[in-house]
Amino acid sequence: MKHSNKALVTGSTRGIGASIAKILAQNGYDVILHGRDEKKLIETKEKIGAIDYFCADLTCRGACEALASGVFSKYGSLDVLVNNAGAYVWANVEKTDDKDIEKLLKLNTEAPFRLIRAFVPSMKAQKFGRIVNIGSISGAVGEGNAALYSMTKSALSGLTKALALELACDGITVNTINPGWVDTELTETACNSGDGFSADENIDMIPQRRFIHPDEVGNLVKYLVSDEAKGLTGQNINLCAGLSVG
Ligand code: NAD
Repeated sequence: MKHSNKALVTGSTRGIGASIAKILAQNGYDVILHGRDEKKLIETKEKIGAIDYFCADLTCRGACEALASGVFSKYGSLDVLVNNAGAYVWANVEKTDDKDIEKLLKLNTEAPFRLIRAFVPSMKAQKFGRIVNIGSISGAVGEGNAALYSMTKSALSGLTKALALELACDGITVNTINPGWVDTELTETACNSGDGFSADENIDMIPQRRFIHPDEVGNLVKYLVSDEAKGLTGQNINLCAGLSVG
């Protein structure tokens, strides 16, 4: 293997991101964590044996570029970028407020693009890179009363296909995983808000009658970033316990 194995996972102090970071660390990657709460970052770093962490609110102006400069100044390059940080909003289109529009576009769509833009030159230079975006089944099939969220996640599908073409001859693959409901804080908050469907009601609509475990996403990321997956690029993979097919 000519390249090193440095992996940055955004939003990695809890939920899906924490599972991805844990599984990559267990499989020999030098994991760089990202989050907004320094205490949680230190705890997670110790717990999973990550090599470092960076603190940044990715909705802030210049935050993605500052995060990339921080990584470059300490480590010189990056091999794996997992764009996981994201937020969910459940609201009718007419009740969706400006603050949420701005936040979700910045966090779910613009931040992945900005981070990719910052890290691609060093991946190109070393002729190796793995980019994995965490989208959502809502972006693949559409979710009623979550138009804003669905829109910000479906944008990752176009980004993935276009970038896979652009970077096909540079040893860089780009893929998006679209999870269905995953057992995390995000899901718990959404199901307990009293606004949408409860956990039991959601489970009833899932063909496998269960939430995805965060480690299932982590294990798919592990495969997508491996040397073995070099032919797998430009794909939007639905990891949703059957939700996308009926
Ligand atoms: P979570 O709420 O448990 O974790 C989200 C992570 O994003 C946290 O680490 C949080 O600190 C980080 N984050 C939030 N706002 C941020 C900001 N402004 N700047 C920097 N970081 C920020 O959610 P999760 O369920 O683990 O979701 C992770 C990803 O998976 C998200 O992109 C989400 O949209 C996607 N997803 C989740 C589900 C699900 O059912 N839980 C389903 C499909 C897709």
